[in-house]
Amino acid sequence: MAEDSSTLSARSPRGGEADAFWFVVSRRRLLVATDTDAAAIPFGERLDRWGLVGLRQQYLGTLRGFSCHGVEVSDKTPAPQGMAFVGLRSLYGLLEEDSFKVALTAMHLVEWDRTSQFCGRCGAKTELRREERAKECTACGAIVFPRISPAVIVLVERGDRVLLARASRFPDSVVAGFVEPGESLEQTVSREIEEETGILVEDVRYFGSQPWPFPDSLMVGFTARYASGELRIDDKEIVDARWFSVDDLPQIPEKVSIARKLIDWFIEKQR
Ligand SMILES: [Zn+2]
Repeated sequence: MAEDSSTLSARSPRGGEADAFWFVVSRRRLLVATDTDAAAIPFGERLDRWGLVGLRQQYLGTLRGFSCHGVEVSDKTPAPQGMAFVGLRSLYGLLEEDSFKVALTAMHLVEWDRTSQFCGRCGAKTELRREERAKECTACGAIVFPRISPAVIVLVERGDRVLLARASRFPDSVVAGFVEPGESLEQTVSREIEEETGILVEDVRYFGSQPWPFPDSLMVGFTARYASGELRIDDKEIVDARWFSVDDLPQIPEKVSIARKLIDWFIEKQR
């Protein structure tokens, strides 16, 4: 893994304009300079260099020692010459790993900024706070932090086989679901698996986590072992669920996802 050269902070350094990275978002797509096998984040002193006008702007932190700004531009903004607005998932592997990490943050915060323009308590305008990543209502003083929605994602093993389930329109994957109020992560794991597939699991272990800003999730990965029960799909979220051995895996999720990292972990273990 490349050395992580990014720091994420709401506090911008003092001083005037200097070269910076611009994470420009339009319709949930990120502006990048592209050629066939790499992509780069626009870099320069000012956004208007590319003829772009930001609707809203936030300081994100630093990347390789330079400031990073997240900017939303209007839906109708055309990409400057040599650049394109590209969905974040397709940029995985094209952007440097440290840039991709800041891009995830930018996507999350630009969307948060866009959808928290007004106070949820009194309806007045909010504004960004200077010293922390939060917004404050200009009328009642309510403070709003960026929303993060935790979800669990679980790989269930049964001997040399793994449980993969398929939701309509998606490839087969490990089971996932949002944490509900009052639940521990472990409770969510057990509940989601039982609801969606009818089985009970044991030996639930933490695997790792991944921010997933579509729009604001934090995916918390676990592994678990089959304990009891027969597979029975819920027919609402899941259209199929089966045990697969490493030799007969179906099409699995793309490399960017923690789902894929869990499946790769299982494949590695079986070899
Ligand atoms: Zn208010």
